Amino acid sequence: MTMLTNNNNHAKLDALERIRAALKDVSGERISVPGIVVVGAQSSGKSSVLEHATGLAFPRGEGMCTRVPTIVSVESIGNTNEEKPSIIVASDATYETNARSVDPADANDFAEAIKEATDALTGEGEIGSEPIYVKYKRLGNGPAFTLTDVPGITCISKTQADVERRTIDLTRSMVANNEDTLVLVVLPATDDFHNSKALKIAEEEDPEGKRTIGVVTKVDNLPPGSNLAHRMSGAEIDLRHGFFAVRNRTQQEINDGVGVEAVAGLEKDLFDTDIVLSKLPDWQRGMDKLILKICEEQKRAIDESLPKIKRQINERLRVQQTEFSRLPSALVSDGDKQVFLLSTLAVCWNDFRRCAGADTTVLGSNEKTTNLSARAHEKLCAMTESLHSGMPDFLDGDVQLKLLSASREALGYDLSNFLQGPVFREQFSNAIDPLFSSEAEMAIDEVAGCVRECLIVLFKKHFPPDTIHGGVVTELTSMLRDELDRRVATTKALVGRLFEAETRCTYTNNHYLAQTIAKFQEIVTDNSAQWKGSSCGSYDGVNDGNDLIPTEFLQSTAGSFRTESNESAAVRQMQITLHAYGKVVHKRYTDSVAVLVLNELVHTLVDDTARFSVEWMPRLLDKLAEDKNMALRRKELTKSISALKVAVGEIDALLV
Ligand code: GDP
Ligand code: MG
Repeated sequence: MTMLTNNNNHAKLDALERIRAALKDVSGERISVPGIVVVGAQSSGKSSVLEHATGLAFPRGEGMCTRVPTIVSVESIGNTNEEKPSIIVASDATYETNARSVDPADANDFAEAIKEATDALTGEGEIGSEPIYVKYKRLGNGPAFTLTDVPGITCISKTQADVERRTIDLTRSMVANNEDTLVLVVLPATDDFHNSKALKIAEEEDPEGKRTIGVVTKVDNLPPGSNLAHRMSGAEIDLRHGFFAVRNRTQQEINDGVGVEAVAGLEKDLFDTDIVLSKLPDWQRGMDKLILKICEEQKRAIDESLPKIKRQINERLRVQQTEFSRLPSALVSDGDKQVFLLSTLAVCWNDFRRCAGADTTVLGSNEKTTNLSARAHEKLCAMTESLHSGMPDFLDGDVQLKLLSASREALGYDLSNFLQGPVFREQFSNAIDPLFSSEAEMAIDEVAGCVRECLIVLFKKHFPPDTIHGGVVTELTSMLRDELDRRVATTKALVGRLFEAETRCTYTNNHYLAQTIAKFQEIVTDNSAQWKGSSCGSYDGVNDGNDLIPTEFLQSTAGSFRTESNESAAVRQMQITLHAYGKVVHKRYTDSVAVLVLNELVHTLVDDTARFSVEWMPRLLDKLAEDKNMALRRKELTKSISALKVAVGEIDALLV
């Protein structure tokens, strides 16, 4: 056997397995390290190849013995008496979990240890993808290498109905694992290579055959005249690394107690005597040549890939450490929670203050809900608008008739040409009741709605449901609702008083009223002579370009002027007064409602936010928990980062 071994190589292979194992805990896209996998159909001779290569009798027999990938590392301890040959079997790369030491001479114990480690990872008789580890320290100066025995492709299983798919999937995942993974496809010489599903998978995953090696077993069973040399020449299936022929222990020899150590001699005899095999070129003949190839390729793959793996690991470490540092604090203790709540709410309230103050940059200009002052203004404008259009036209004929009849009912106390206060007041109150009250209440509800929407958006921004348990926003929303309900009630009460005042008091100092009435008198006086004389047609002076009094009203006044009584003149006077007073009250009321609403629902709410932080705290503390996914992510990242650190430490030690 060719001697390739040195201590450096052992260390490298061991480190590689530890790196491989550590990288399994890394979150995100898989970072893989090169290895050598042995694949093939069940009973094609994979375990026999392993046995032949290592000198260790692997459990073999009828049916499935290898049920999980078995990573076998072989190193040689020389021939001094300092160390004894040993085997350790475990279900982790550091040989800590389910570890069992076995005497290499005790084949049964070894078989049992493998079964035990396998059973710890997968159900009785089932195929699993988690590997077990076997480290074999043997006497002599043989080469160090690591091979992974993959459960063979089979369609027969007592326990698993989908065993064929499982074994195929497992083979494929082992082959596809890494583009530096060397694939030993075990092919019985007696089978047509084209029938091998494992070879087909290798061809699919490695189309150029750059990392596939054909291992042809059972070459002792060939019929005379076999064209094996031709089939192994690459003429049919081209593999860059070619095919190697090996002869392992036959079942008969195992049964007869022929030892593993005898197989090298038996293989040599076969190659020396067999006519078919004599046609094979030297490099394809036997296990030694295969081992030589494996060691060469393994060394090359490791040397080439280590710097690349190191780069990948460092990059992943950087990304994950950044992500970790950006995770919110874990929110375990009440102290943590309080600090988090107070500081987060403070930022949230500050945003709210900006929203109330027409700062449109809080969530960007596209987010309209947080432009609170504009949204409230829209609702208040809508109220102003509908109050305006809802008011009756005091100048129309209907009102005139009503006023006339009401004035008559007041005769006997007031004179017919007096503007009667109660009649006026009743007419006006009827006109605004309940319109003014209901529209104002609606505006209050709508502005409160704007405030609620704005704050909910801010709550969600500062307590994002993907990091903080959604209960916090729900609780905040519910406390906000209570607070707004109280404020809405207060505001409605205030506005209610205002409304009552408008219906009960007739009062203004607004010059608009006096101005409108004086203007009307002026037009009537200026034109009275002409209007009296005119029986029909146009009335000059009606339209003087002043929009205080509509032209139609003046025309109708002019038209009936000749025949009008004192009483009617007083009614006209009252109509004009109602018209002007309506405008005054509309303006006064809508503006007052607007400032009250803004003050109660927005500005004093902003002032009170600091108080909410304190008052709301107890109910929020209960709800505040890190989102489950976030807690999981924190755990995952912690594990991943420490695994990456282990891996990078191993690589650094190798590269010095
Ligand atoms: P595995 O299922 O692929 O691991 O196959 P095994 O290694 O368990 O081998 C299956 C059977 O083939 C066993 O009975 C072996 O003794 C037999 N076998 C393996 N290699 C050879 C060989 O080179 N020559 C002969 N004659 N039998 C072999
Ligand atoms: Mg096997």
